[in-house]
Amino acid sequence: MPAPAVYLDHAATTPLDPKVLAAMQPYFAAEYGNPSSIHAMGQHAEAAVERARSEVAAVLRCPTQDVIFTSGGSESDNLALRGTAFASRELRGASRVLTTPVEHPAVLRTAEALARQHGFSLDLLPVDHFGQVDPDDLRRRLTPDTAVVSVIHANNEIGTVNPVTHLARLCAEQGIPFHTDAVQAAAHLDLQELTDAPALISIGGHKLYGPKGVGVLRCPSQIPLLPEITGGGQEHGLRAGTHNVPLIVGLAAALKLAAETRPVEHARHSGLRDRILSRVLAEVPQAVISGHPLQRLPNHASFCFHQLDGNALVAALDRSGYACSSGSACKTGDPTPSGVLLALGLPPAWALGSLRVTVGRSTLPREVDGFLSVLPAVIQAVRSAGGN
Ligand SMILES: *Cc1c(COP(=O)(O)O)cnc(C)c1O
Repeated sequence: MPAPAVYLDHAATTPLDPKVLAAMQPYFAAEYGNPSSIHAMGQHAEAAVERARSEVAAVLRCPTQDVIFTSGGSESDNLALRGTAFASRELRGASRVLTTPVEHPAVLRTAEALARQHGFSLDLLPVDHFGQVDPDDLRRRLTPDTAVVSVIHANNEIGTVNPVTHLARLCAEQGIPFHTDAVQAAAHLDLQELTDAPALISIGGHKLYGPKGVGVLRCPSQIPLLPEITGGGQEHGLRAGTHNVPLIVGLAAALKLAAETRPVEHARHSGLRDRILSRVLAEVPQAVISGHPLQRLPNHASFCFHQLDGNALVAALDRSGYACSSGSACKTGDPTPSGVLLALGLPPAWALGSLRVTVGRSTLPREVDGFLSVLPAVIQAVRSAGGN
């Protein structure tokens, strides 16, 4: 193993919090009961799952019946889109899916599959050059035929935060299900105002210092949803399969911890983020911020640099001891520009030179300063190598 890098890629995943690991530990071995069993061991496991559900519901301030445990953010997105699309078609013949070009692939590819394989029509709402949806645009495009609307809460690539509570209320007025992917947002933003609106909300464990492979879909009971995974009656009949008890316990502990530490971490993170944003703009020629300069995740700085290979930059930074990303973790090795950046109107010569720097709970100011002190020279070196 090489010397550990300074980890500045918390939007890709976060380290498991030791308190979360401790909460999960008993359920990997000693407490192995199946929550669906009648005997005491089963009951004990069921109590752990229901305790976790209550903790999640308390953080989100929603009824416990609204909380569906899944295998992660991707499954929550799939269940929300497919489950509401099929239910809306069955109940009211609606056949149109309305989303945006800046969604995570778990939403966008799912919407495309609903169109290609299941006969839905797909419409994309426009976004402005920060990646935000204008509520008036949504209002104009809502039709009785709309089966579901999905708009990302906080963008993983560019950090931009959307006015999702407003969008959720517009959809609710027309009786149309509204879903938001809050997998990035849940670690950093208070979701209570959003939860007061009848929105479906996706959350994933590993983006908030919890385990990988577990997520939540919050689905208000008045929104019709059909299951994707059928079988036993787990999760109110909406998601079959024996509960992954340790991971569910871990997700709840992580979400609770995120809510408790949020005020302090929000201030600390935004200080580091703003230092990165301003110093890069001041010290690197031909650099722009991607996404909204202010309405963005507190831990998220992202840029585009003209005439530079973003993947080469990330590799060079890694050799200098800093783990960053060129955008989303899902695009490793893909030489085509990000659809999210193109949707902002950035030309390919800028969109190919993307860099995402996301700080976390353990990031120290001196680590950020160390990063900022090497970045301009690394960029210059990558630019001149690319010119040959
Ligand atoms: C990571 C991420 C997902 C996918 O979550 P997994 O738990 O990794 O499946 C979905 N949406 C956004 C915005 C993400 O950042």
